[in-house]
Amino acid sequence: MVSALQPKRDVSRLEDYLEAIYNLNEEKGFISVADISEKLKVKPPTVSSMVARLAKEGYVERVKYRGMKLTPNGSKVARSVIRRHSTISELLSMLGVGGEVAYEDTEGIEHHLHPVTIQRFERLVDFLRQNPEFLERMKEGIEGA
Ligand code: ZN
Repeated sequence: MVSALQPKRDVSRLEDYLEAIYNLNEEKGFISVADISEKLKVKPPTVSSMVARLAKEGYVERVKYRGMKLTPNGSKVARSVIRRHSTISELLSMLGVGGEVAYEDTEGIEHHLHPVTIQRFERLVDFLRQNPEFLERMKEGIEGA
């Protein structure tokens, strides 16, 4: 939850940027406007102005020679999105949904689920991981002919 005052669409966009910056940092240790632009399929000038806003609001800091990095607060938000992302995507994969469809649906819903729903999803994923025979039976049951 970023701020109750921000419209939902705005929060989704902010979360997408922080998620992308976090992942780029893990992947390359360097984050440029061009990288974000490519990852989010957004034009560089739009990325630049969003990054300026994120810096102003205390989510990212500009770093000499390294582009930028997340502040502790930005990192907290990013980790929460990434945690939601991996729970949803693992659940979808357990349901037999993979590849591009799973990715797009995960990106689509990760910002919109209530914390209670996410918590239940996490518990379901844990339960299924701990009960592989049940998971197999479930998969057989829903995969159909
Ligand atoms: Zn995501």
